Amino acid sequence: MGDRHLDRIERAAKEAEAADLAALLVTPSADLVYLAGYDPPPLERLTCLVVRPGADPVLLVPALERPRAVESPVGGKVDVATWDDGDDPYEALGPLIPPDGRLGATDQMWAVHMLGAQRVRPDAEFTSASPVLSKLRSIKDPSELELLSRAARGADEAFRKLADTRLEGLREEEVAVLLASLLREVGHEEVSFTIVGSGPNGASPHHEPGGRAIRSGDPIVLDFGGKVGRYCSDISRTVCVGEPPRGFEEVYDVVREAQEAAFRAAAPGVTGLEIDAVARGVIEQAGYGERFIHRTGHGIGLEVHESPYISSENDDPLEAGMCFSIEPGIYLEGRFGVRIEDIVTVTEAGANRLNRADRDLRTVA
Ligand code: ZN
Ligand code: ZN
Ligand code: ZN
Repeated sequence: MGDRHLDRIERAAKEAEAADLAALLVTPSADLVYLAGYDPPPLERLTCLVVRPGADPVLLVPALERPRAVESPVGGKVDVATWDDGDDPYEALGPLIPPDGRLGATDQMWAVHMLGAQRVRPDAEFTSASPVLSKLRSIKDPSELELLSRAARGADEAFRKLADTRLEGLREEEVAVLLASLLREVGHEEVSFTIVGSGPNGASPHHEPGGRAIRSGDPIVLDFGGKVGRYCSDISRTVCVGEPPRGFEEVYDVVREAQEAAFRAAAPGVTGLEIDAVARGVIEQAGYGERFIHRTGHGIGLEVHESPYISSENDDPLEAGMCFSIEPGIYLEGRFGVRIEDIVTVTEAGANRLNRADRDLRTVA
């Protein structure tokens, strides 16, 4: 077919059949963007792409959104069905989905839509479409890899510019605003999050930047990201304002070594569980095992957290084309935190870092 979205829909239909699913139901979500390039706001009015093995896909939309759906990348290529305001959208959905069998729904389907679909198909078994769709989305094609590396390079550049800025005396929330404007400056169309954890606040991995003023001697955990061409960036660096506090450099070196070891371990056939164990092993050996309080990483793509997870629960072998973060950390309550995070991609030859910002301890002003 030669059309990226139609190809993805066709592959999804094949995988659905192999997974014994009679249809996939995809409401507005990253799954819908991936399959159809269509990105309407998720609303109470039902929009649903129905992917059916052995039959053509159909996109059901509210009648008033038909023009928008027709202009989407799959408009004119996929049948667009509509329902009118005042009518029951689930009665319109019913005939488009098989009466029984297993139906896979996107993980991001609103409960109200799931309940409506269940009402019109009481004999069907509803299950998660994730085993099919997360799997497809986890292996990036060259155009996706290009966007992810552009996003990563932008995040690197924003970090370099921030590290050249005088941070002492600024409040965390001011640094967060600065980071957001730097991300936009380097070409991000969206800023998703800006974590700035200074001093003891760095010990909370998802600290919300607040009014604390940054002082000399503060380590600062910076973790931020946004989107380029709908694909996400996500980087963490820990810097120190002036002279680091006692014990900080030792902890920094342990995290850096754990990150490096996990990176070296990543390759096709290795599991997320194994990479997590490598990073954890380095930190445990240094005596900080209890202070590494999260998984080692997460997949990234259209969403900042997606498959594959680099965690003790994931025993699926990695494949070339997968992208994920490697972000070990050590968090010492009341003192400071350290986290170093890069996005990497798996190639046949091993892993490649998409982030290139220096990982050496950076002293800032
Ligand atoms: Zn996080
Ligand atoms: Zn992050
Ligand atoms: Zn992350």
